[in-house]
Amino acid sequence: MKCEKCGRLLTHLDVNFFDHEGADYEQQLPFNEYDTDAVEVEVTQNWTGYDLSEEEMAETIYCPHCRQFPFKNPEIQTFDFTRVVMFKQSTAREDREGSSLDEYRYGGDTVFRPGDYIVYRNGSRYEIGRIKSLRPDGAFVAYHSGETGAKTPYDLMRPLVNGYVLEKTTLGGDYFKEGRP
Ligand SMILES: [Zn+2]
Repeated sequence: MKCEKCGRLLTHLDVNFFDHEGADYEQQLPFNEYDTDAVEVEVTQNWTGYDLSEEEMAETIYCPHCRQFPFKNPEIQTFDFTRVVMFKQSTAREDREGSSLDEYRYGGDTVFRPGDYIVYRNGSRYEIGRIKSLRPDGAFVAYHSGETGAKTPYDLMRPLVNGYVLEKTTLGGDYFKEGRP
């Protein structure tokens, strides 16, 4: 596709957007061409032309070469659409972060296993947690009654050797019921 104002080849369009502070900046957007001579770019609500008049919208889209609106026809149509994002179980953070280990050896005789209680050094304080799963670079540890684990580096945690006496903790919620892990 060529710019209808300067005749040069277009590989993208420059489009104006607001950044998080409300200042505007240009983004290079790829476009789709349709058989109907329509050309489409996908923008978000941060597009500076959003909710403006058609004429003003055209002032936010430029040919990168001549800096003009690249079409002779000034007509612009906008369509709102809704993107639905769903999550498969396997995209949970713990599952995304590499493969689980059955145990992790830290130093000489320190071994961490899923289900173990640990003490985590959080600055000048210590917290008791229970290991949900192990990764090469840290463990997911339950520190509260929710099922979510917090990634914890091995060098900040130590085994709590008498953790078995903690019969009544709610750490990890239902995660440790039903024989898991
Ligand atoms: Zn141009």
